[in-house]
Amino acid sequence: MMTTGEQTLRTYFLDAFRQVTRRSDTPEIHVAFYPFAGLNHTIRIRKQRIYARVSDLMRDAPPAAQRAIAFILVAKLFRRRVNSEHQAVYRQYAYQPQVVRASELARRARGRKELTGAAGEHYDLDAIFARLNRRYFANALQKPALGWSRRRTKRILGHHDRAHEAIVISRSLDTPETPEFLVEFVLYHEMLHIKHRARTINGRRVHHHAAFRSDERRFARYEEASAWLDRLAER
Ligand SMILES: [Zn+2]
Repeated sequence: MMTTGEQTLRTYFLDAFRQVTRRSDTPEIHVAFYPFAGLNHTIRIRKQRIYARVSDLMRDAPPAAQRAIAFILVAKLFRRRVNSEHQAVYRQYAYQPQVVRASELARRARGRKELTGAAGEHYDLDAIFARLNRRYFANALQKPALGWSRRRTKRILGHHDRAHEAIVISRSLDTPETPEFLVEFVLYHEMLHIKHRARTINGRRVHHHAAFRSDERRFARYEEASAWLDRLAER
């Protein structure tokens, strides 16, 4: 069942379809507000039917902004140029501080669910975190959400997500062939991202600045772990 809000939104998509494609025969269009983790929207076409999902953060958005996102999505679906006026209306809405804030909150609350648990098949990130925190940070680091990535990513071994206060470690490291000090080192690197904020140097955001690198070298088996990572990268 479509809500009144969704029915109104659907009329914008129908308008957009007619204007963007200049076709009079309108296809079936399914429109729904959807609880994405942030101000995201999707559109796709399957068997002549169009399915659009608009962030539920836009439920109470002004009609002009809802209309604008309908035109933007339909233009993208048919690979047409996005009308600059619609672009401007949407941006004006999306860049308002309260909208940015609501989007950030939704990302925190909903995005975290994407994480898998800290206990892997071979290594437990909670235990390793506690050990590293004690040894290198005098237990001063706030514990983030810890988890293994869903996919066995080879190129990216670790990631610190400041919006969610989460650290994700590549599942490719959760194997008996991976020595424990390597998992420790990858996690230690991500923990340093909690300790050190990025710095702006010559107008660029620098994450691995000198203070970060110097801390990184404090890791007990730094040389060995770095050499191992270099070998992994070459493969
Ligand atoms: Zn890094």
